[in-house]
Formats: sequence, C-alpha cells, structure tokens
Amino acid sequence: MTRPISAFSTASFLLLPFLAGACQQGSVPQAPADADPPWNWTEQEVRDAVNQVRAGRDLNPDGWPDGARVAVLFSFDVDNETVQGLRDGTVSVGPLSQGQYGSRVALPRVVDLMDREQVPASFFFPAWSLKLAPEQADVIQASGMHEIAVHGWIHERNTSLDAATEERLLRQAVDALTEITGTAPVGYRAPSWNFSPNTLDIVRRMGFLYESSLMADDRPYELVQDGQPTGVVELPVEWILDDAPLFNPQGTRYSPPREVMQVWIDEFDRAWEEGTMFLLTMHPHITGHRSRIVALEGLIAHIKAKGDVWFGTHEQAARYVRAQAGMDG
Ligand SMILES: [Zn+2]
Repeated sequence: MTRPISAFSTASFLLLPFLAGACQQGSVPQAPADADPPWNWTEQEVRDAVNQVRAGRDLNPDGWPDGARVAVLFSFDVDNETVQGLRDGTVSVGPLSQGQYGSRVALPRVVDLMDREQVPASFFFPAWSLKLAPEQADVIQASGMHEIAVHGWIHERNTSLDAATEERLLRQAVDALTEITGTAPVGYRAPSWNFSPNTLDIVRRMGFLYESSLMADDRPYELVQDGQPTGVVELPVEWILDDAPLFNPQGTRYSPPREVMQVWIDEFDRAWEEGTMFLLTMHPHITGHRSRIVALEGLIAHIKAKGDVWFGTHEQAARYVRAQAGMDG
C-alpha cells in the first residue's frame, strides 16, 4: 500500500509553532500533490499512519535509585554553529559567532555549574559541533560524571532526507564522536526532534539504548513500531521543557529567565508529587548566558531543597528503567 502521508512525521507537526527556536524546525511537511486528502483515507490508512511509531508500556519505575521518588535528567543539546546557518549552508559570519559562543564561553560555564553542584548531565552533539571544538569533550569528561550522546551530523532535518542518507549521516556522526571522546554514544536525539518515517528503523539497526525526541508521555516508555514493542527506551521531551523558544530575544514569545524558571519549578514540583521524571532540554549557547545561568542555578537550588531526588544521565536512567521492567532478559 502506498501511504499518502509518507512525507509527514508527527514530530514535524508538533514543531511547527516554533520556527523561531534555536533548535528550530525548518520546513513544513507537505503531502504529495497527487495524494488523497486525509478525509478520504480508509480506516486502515489512518491507523497505519498513526501506528508507525507509538508509545507502548510505561517504564516509570516504582522508585528511582537510592529510593528517590523523582528522577531529574538534564539535557544539553550542543548545537553551536550547526543551527546558526551551517546546516542550511547559509553561512554568515555574525550568526556563526553566536554559535562559537557556545563552545568558547557557554559550555565551560554550564559544565562548571554542573560540576560544582555535582549534578550529572547528558550532552547531545551534532558531530560537527564537536569536530569544530573538540576541547569541549575534555571539559565535559573531566569529572567522569557526564554523558556524551549523538544529535546528528550537522543538525540535518531527517524528514528532508531519504533513508540511506539519514542512516549514513548518523553512522558518520557516531564514528566521529567515538573517535573524539573515546566512547561510543548509546543515546540518540534527532536534530530539532525531527523524526522521519525511517528514524526508528535506523535507531534499532544501530542498536541505541534509548531515544529522546518524542512527546507521548512525561514518563519513560517503550517505543512501539507498527504495533510491535521495540525494546527501545524513549525518554520524552517537551517544548515547555526547552530553553530555545522562550529564550530567543528576537522571537515573539520571549520570556525573562526568572519567569521561565518558575514554569520549570512547577513542572518539577508536579513530577515530584507524581513520582515520575523531570527532563529538561537546554542548549549551552542559549542557557549558558549569565542571566540564564542564574535561572538554572535557581532551579537546581529548588530541586535540592525539595529532596528525595535522583539526578542521573539519560544513559543511567535508561539502563535503570530497562532493568526494573525486566527488559534485559
Ligand atoms: Zn539541536
């Protein structure tokens, strides 16, 4: 059967309102001109479209390590120059300098805070961000506490690529990160959370432990593909829990950092009450500015004051929930 929606992805639709974000979605998915409109689709066509990738069983454990009631996972997507025109080939010196701020100033500042607070974090790299400033790996790895994971080759948009190109770029990226860091990444986050109809097949073939680009829950869950459990752990993200849209001073939704901090605190407090997970996505070149670091410090202080919290990397969380759910055989 030819699916009329082959050029679509659910993630793409979710990203559309955030064109001004730093981790932005680039192109609006278009149905092929000769495709049937969706109101004419058969029952099976609608179900097949929806069921390509779905949330399966809830993997939230009864308790987190050390008996903690809530897990706190900090992500930093180290996009730097890749989202400042490089991925589109629209190279301009000014925006690139903003990207260089990421590796030169912001990443060391962010890592310094995490190390001082003894809070582990996961750093997702497009390979080119690390190739342009490989010293970032030394800064991150000095404490032995943090994780480096993969975020594409040059922040490419997966839905604009054919399957072979998408897979080639991700394999290249894993090789480059492994060469620079000495460790193969076990986690994947799609650039711009842009998940193509081929992404899950590629993630499975490459044997990733976890994926972190989708939004079907606040809790970790197992990805299901065409109705079948995959064994891949999803650590879900959300635009509410992302620094990019609200911290863009040229955007239409700009919010002062201390107001954004209050949203994150409310999200954390409810996760604490529910006994689930709080996963926050940030970008060094965005959050690593002075006024935003103040907000992140305030959030960490609030979380620590609340107590009964486990801080972990995404890898540690994925391994833990797999073991608790009996997925390791
Ligand atoms: Zn990104």
